[in-house]
Amino acid sequence: MTKLMLITGGSRGIGAATARLAAARGYDVAISYAVNQEAADAVVAGIHALGRKALAIEADMGKPEDIARLFKAVDAGFGRLDAFFNNAGIVGKAARFVDIPLAQLQRVLAVNTAGAFIAAQEATRRMSTRLGGKGGVIVNMSSIAAKMGGANEATDYGLSKGGIDSLTIGLAKELAGEGIRVNAVRPGLIHTEIHASMGVPDRIERFKTLVPMQRGGTPEEVAEAVLWLCSDQASYCTGVLLEVTGGRGI
Ligand code: NAP
Repeated sequence: MTKLMLITGGSRGIGAATARLAAARGYDVAISYAVNQEAADAVVAGIHALGRKALAIEADMGKPEDIARLFKAVDAGFGRLDAFFNNAGIVGKAARFVDIPLAQLQRVLAVNTAGAFIAAQEATRRMSTRLGGKGGVIVNMSSIAAKMGGANEATDYGLSKGGIDSLTIGLAKELAGEGIRVNAVRPGLIHTEIHASMGVPDRIERFKTLVPMQRGGTPEEVAEAVLWLCSDQASYCTGVLLEVTGGRGI
């Protein structure tokens, strides 16, 4: 039976690259997106072209009712869940700590942290051997900002990803006996549109000299790490926070 991977935020950036690589490695793939249906449909078409099943579902990770609806749609569409990439995330506008508006802080935490927590609960309900599931893998999307703090531009985001690291460690311990491995990736500066949404489209160009490898990474390089963590080759790995940063943050 073909395995199913669910990827939140699979319409663009790292999620889209992971969706394409997962299909190439033999998974059927469900993706969620927030607003960009055209991009989501293009990812689905690419997966179909590889001969795999795919489904795109609109769901705002900041809304618990949308998360519940997303997982129900996956149940209806595929009837299984083997790997969950808890990827969707946002950044607010870049600002110094004291200038970050409360509404921005609340939204970043609602999507990146509470949304990921609730989605991991839904995945666990379906995968846990204690609850009648067949086991599975969760990969959470952290960031090197969890370690570096997001100083001077995104402390709200750094906080939200620090929570993801704690969640990953807690779930790795709690779910190890229920057939679920839980790991995270911590990317550094990756070439996606997220930097423009912070209001800093040239962010990688500005900061790449701080990266030991002197360049930003590609979404595909992060996707490779995610697929490895999901694979049987990583069968003894749980609670790992895998940095994909070209050396930034070490
Ligand atoms: P991106 O190119 O901006 O793509 C974001 C994806 O998330 C899109 O599919 C988007 O859907 C979806 N999304 C946005 N808001 C959402 C919401 N409220 N609910 C559900 N989905 C939502 O970003 P990316 O760089 O690939 O980032 C993906 C993840 O990697 C994020 O968690 C980010 O924090 C993390 N990360 C990125 C970097 C980096 O340098 N790029 C580094 C470290 C960590 P639409 O297409 O519908 O908008």
